[in-house]
Amino acid sequence: MRTLVISDIHANYTALEAVLEDATDVDSVWCLGDLVGYGPDPNECIELVRQLPNLVCLLGNHDAAAIGQINIETFNPEARYSIEWMQGQLTDKNRGYLKELPTQAVVDQVTLAHGSPRSPIYEYLLDNYLATQNFAFFSTPFCFVGHTHLPAHFHYSDGNKMAKLTIPKANTGFRLNPRAILNPGSVGQPRDRDPRAAFAIYDTDLKTWDYHRIPYDILDVQHRMRDAGLPERHIVRLDGGW
Ligand code: ZN
Repeated sequence: MRTLVISDIHANYTALEAVLEDATDVDSVWCLGDLVGYGPDPNECIELVRQLPNLVCLLGNHDAAAIGQINIETFNPEARYSIEWMQGQLTDKNRGYLKELPTQAVVDQVTLAHGSPRSPIYEYLLDNYLATQNFAFFSTPFCFVGHTHLPAHFHYSDGNKMAKLTIPKANTGFRLNPRAILNPGSVGQPRDRDPRAAFAIYDTDLKTWDYHRIPYDILDVQHRMRDAGLPERHIVRLDGGW
């Protein structure tokens, strides 16, 4: 089975469309959370994701903020403005959809979480120290996470003290060896200085991970963000990839 693994779409419909077009026929889709936040198209993204085949979709921290599950009083003013704008945009139906999303799942022997298996919504798996600790919090051979917006492959085998972090090369594939934590990167707001949309195709039989980066029309998204009055910082970071 060819499974599309995506995360952190962040209301960027143009990037999402480009990813779906490039991924072509997939048997299933695993979406690791943050459908909304930052971008101009929260409703459109939810409505498109909902239609994807054999979908497993998780709740991210921005999705939780959208439905009032996170107190945004402590957020910086730009982030707060952006979340309040998005809360005003969401239809009741789409808000209801976000409310139903689980924070974690196990599918085909893969654990899925937005942030980490230890703290599914909030923890950022940014280094091998944190990743190593997290191997104790899932029992499947593999775990897929998002949240950092940084593609990553943490491999941990018995006898090793620490998990090893490798950053996969764009548009290459490899076979996964147990145990591993993988991050497909972000569809709608990459932060590794490569502004192209990121996603992965996981083959559930062959256990291969094909990691892709593809260009999309960033200017188009930036125009919609300006029209919506969204914060300039969130607009300029899209073409810098930060
Ligand atoms: Zn995110």
